[in-house]
Amino acid sequence: MNDTATPSEEVTGNIARACKIARRDIDEVTLIAVSKTHPAGAIEPLLEQGHRVFGENRVQEAQDKWPKLSERYPDSELHLIGQLQSNKADDAVALFDCIHALDRPSLVKALAKAMDKQGTQVPCFVQVNIGEEDQKGGCLPAELPALLKQVRSADIPLAGLMCIPPFEIEPAPFFAFLRKLADDNGVAGLSMGMSSDYETAIMLGATHIRVGTALFGQRSAPK
Ligand SMILES: *Cc1c(COP(=O)(O)O)cnc(C)c1O
Repeated sequence: MNDTATPSEEVTGNIARACKIARRDIDEVTLIAVSKTHPAGAIEPLLEQGHRVFGENRVQEAQDKWPKLSERYPDSELHLIGQLQSNKADDAVALFDCIHALDRPSLVKALAKAMDKQGTQVPCFVQVNIGEEDQKGGCLPAELPALLKQVRSADIPLAGLMCIPPFEIEPAPFFAFLRKLADDNGVAGLSMGMSSDYETAIMLGATHIRVGTALFGQRSAPK
């Protein structure tokens, strides 16, 4: 890497290199710039450079930050990457272009109802708790087929599967497992890979990578 590259040039370069190694077309990989905790002023430079796809993990924070930015950049695209409570489904459907953490039957119902009411369809990724960890969101791999069936019959557009592998161990086997689950269940998209592992995720088939720290720097600790 050369010293003068901006963080976004560096990430874009790494994506291109991973795609080349994996013999994938760069257009198959969407970079979601995860702007959670960062103020509008930190997001604008990326928008000015032409980046359009962003991720937030809290409905309230996104409601505070994004309407103004979206007004100025109407073609910007906002993804909800964090857990969603069913009572926020209406707000999420109104604000976001894509939802990444659909992980339980009650949320399928709440989102279907919200979409119906607002006459809109928001593509959703079904989150899988790929390491079967107690504290993590996502459905268990064994529950996936039934949940997908429910999503499909509720007419929610299925964008793909999403996972957050266990921290601090090699993520590749988990990415490979998510891809196998997607193949087995006829699902196309794969939302996987963060700042520390997006190149690995690309080599294992990611279609959407969610990168925060590598673009925006460290987040301050949550208050
Ligand atoms: C915060 C977050 C990211 C981005 O993490 P970085 O390590 O900062 O790139 C990706 N996915 C989810 C679900 C997140 O909450």
